Amino acid sequence: MNPEIEAHLRSLVNFPSPPGVATHIIELARDPDIEMGKVARALSMDSALATKILRIANSPLYAQRRKSDNLRQALVVLGLNATLTLALSFSLVKSLRTGRANGLDHAWYWRRALLAATAARALGDAMHQTLAEEIFLAGLLQDVGMLALDQAQPDLYRGREQLQRHHAALAEHERRVLQTDHAEIGAWLMRNWNLPERLHRAIALSHRPDPQPSEDPAAVFQRCVALSGPVADLFLLDPADRPFAETALAAERVLGLDKLSFGQVLGTVGAMIPETEAIFESDMLARQHPELILEQAREVLMLRSLHALREINHLRAAAESSSSRALELEEETRRDAMTGVYNRAHLDQVLMREFENSTRHRWPLSVAFADLDNFKSINDRYGHQAGDRILQATARILRGNTRETDIIARYGGEEFVIVLPATDAETAHSICERIVMAFQNTEHVIGAEHAQVTVSIGCATHGQETTFASAAEFVNAADQALYTAKLRGRNRSVPFDRRIPGALAALHG
Ligand code: GH3
Ligand code: MG
Ligand code: MG
Repeated sequence: MNPEIEAHLRSLVNFPSPPGVATHIIELARDPDIEMGKVARALSMDSALATKILRIANSPLYAQRRKSDNLRQALVVLGLNATLTLALSFSLVKSLRTGRANGLDHAWYWRRALLAATAARALGDAMHQTLAEEIFLAGLLQDVGMLALDQAQPDLYRGREQLQRHHAALAEHERRVLQTDHAEIGAWLMRNWNLPERLHRAIALSHRPDPQPSEDPAAVFQRCVALSGPVADLFLLDPADRPFAETALAAERVLGLDKLSFGQVLGTVGAMIPETEAIFESDMLARQHPELILEQAREVLMLRSLHALREINHLRAAAESSSSRALELEEETRRDAMTGVYNRAHLDQVLMREFENSTRHRWPLSVAFADLDNFKSINDRYGHQAGDRILQATARILRGNTRETDIIARYGGEEFVIVLPATDAETAHSICERIVMAFQNTEHVIGAEHAQVTVSIGCATHGQETTFASAAEFVNAADQALYTAKLRGRNRSVPFDRRIPGALAALHG
């Protein structure tokens, strides 16, 4: 620690001592004989704080059957330690936010702090950590050193708006000018504020996660905090600057989260934003829409080939290459050998996962069932080999007319299933129509002959007007719609309609 800065910080009013209410809460938390009644009384002294605790206890984060309408009940729901930690988050944010800014962009700072806290918590949940509130608090406070430095050195961040958007470069700048950085200062503050060891360790290491893989909960805690900043940046930076692939790889390397779990973490962060914004009375994303960010994230994370994801990452370490081969092999077992799209076994997994995701995050999920028309006669006329080539061309047409995030699988024979995550019925229908058109416009060259193959598609959407009880029932609905499409004369796409059974629909169509 730079002694000059330390002396200066000590002379400042708010640093290093924490604000009044917070001091009181920290004292309470350190008392081994603390009991509910005492905490409830202490918290109820600050009505704004009490309201927030109640609101959190009743929020979807703590899905409770019974609503808590007083602090004691909320304390039972949340637990003593969690309540105190949350109370500390609220009171620290409240008092630190009133501080005067010198060169620091406070709006940006707080947006990132709250998003990082949300991300730390979501990562902690994904890693099955029990100290959710403490991980949140550590994520929230990890850059508190910047607030302190901005007070101690008013010129440090002045005129450096762009630099403030690039966290690693900013810390580099601090080290160049002061021979210390905000992570070190923040950890020092936490120690002075008598906060738990876990917190100051996590903050001290927030820019350099421990590279040794470890199952140790303390190490996982620290890693969740270290990753939370980069995850927050995915939501904050300009779309072109968002390092999705690098961050996904870091999550894989540092926490062992695969890209799908990482995608789920991003989904959870997105889902938690509104509640966190409301409780902290903050506008975390300014005018941005989390759905757009999630869509972009999915685009990158769902890249069908892991290989492509790895290619984007310039920082790939040589040591990773052997595990990368293992992942490629694993990827191969998921593919249909002839067409290269996913096989039935993997489709079943994808469907289960996406069905669960859709239900959990309340985003719509669509599925399309496509079957080539009169394919038997194509085989009879041109032979099985020609038929195989048409099936390969079919995979290409499907890939070319769907989005990066859609998952294409061969269901069997000449039947294909497309899973369209986060896609409403209308969008799904237009994608299906586009596919039908593409088949109509494709000529297959077989020797000297030209053949045309059309397709029939049935499509169903879960989680909008209709919800299905299971993934199997959902796919059945698409299959039923496909049957309707066949009966109506083939070469078309039909959306599932629960009100009309398949055969009747065909008669009416
Ligand atoms: P429709 O679906 O329009 O009712 O008629 P269809 O002729 O396509 O119907 P059906 O499902 O009865 O026939 C599917 C045919 O697809 C049977 C078989 O000749 C062909 N087929 C299935 N799997 C393969 C394959 O792997 N390669 C080739 N070449 N043909 C296949
Ligand atoms: Mg067919
Ligand atoms: Mg068939």
